[in-house]
Amino acid sequence: MAKGAKIYEGKAKTLYEGPEPGTIIQYFKDDATAFNAEKKDVIDGKGALNNRFSEHFMQGLESIGLPTHFIKRLNMREQLVKRVDIVPLEVIVRNVAAGSMSKRLGIEEGTKLNRPLVEFSYKDDSLGDPLVAEEHILALEWATQRELDEMISMALRVNDFLSGTMHAVGIKLVDFKIEIGRLTENDYQQLVIADEISPDSCRLWDIETGQKLDKDVFRRDLGNLTDAYSEVARRLGLLPKNTTTPKLVK
Ligand code: UDP
Repeated sequence: MAKGAKIYEGKAKTLYEGPEPGTIIQYFKDDATAFNAEKKDVIDGKGALNNRFSEHFMQGLESIGLPTHFIKRLNMREQLVKRVDIVPLEVIVRNVAAGSMSKRLGIEEGTKLNRPLVEFSYKDDSLGDPLVAEEHILALEWATQRELDEMISMALRVNDFLSGTMHAVGIKLVDFKIEIGRLTENDYQQLVIADEISPDSCRLWDIETGQKLDKDVFRRDLGNLTDAYSEVARRLGLLPKNTTTPKLVK
């Protein structure tokens, strides 16, 4: 499928005009960044894996009635999605304390929370995506009260779905981030899950060993990121059991 003009280039994906109005082609790059792009690398195979993960999770969410932007995967690195207006918030759900929450509050990583916690950060790289309260979101009109309530309910449903899917293959879903978009079709507007869902945006720990199988492998130099992602893909049945990590053909 021919790509149209480039619309936006982000850290891990590039967006192009799609073939029909209202569509976008999402191209998954091999670039990995962390700490607001202070740490950067190119990791062979990451883009193809994340394209496949995102297809799998978005289709799973659709199957339980959660609307997403996903239309179809086009090839190894590209997927066709609906064009949406992204709400300028990262919606984070946590089941276990880790990462920025542990640092901010001095809580040991791995401490189980007695209920899932939904947090929001304001999407602005120049500010380092600061944590914001629901009050900021309403006062600054980033979303309405109705949208806010719906975003929380969607995020918790995504959490239940992803936690169950991961638990079934021996992986603990520690936390994750989603982005939500406003989709307008026939004068009707609804919120849909957008962007991507992959180990780039989740924390995934092996239930038995505690081994990290997510982007922390890159952030914290814990080994080969593609090997970790391939392990998750194999367990989910997205890669044949006896394959090795896909290698870039130069
Ligand atoms: N996350 C993300 N993009 C971001 C910030 C966070 O995908 O820009 C994900 C991250 O991978 C983790 C969860 O959101 O699964 C919570 O991240 P946290 O706030 O702990 O931030 P971090 O420690 O990654 O800076």
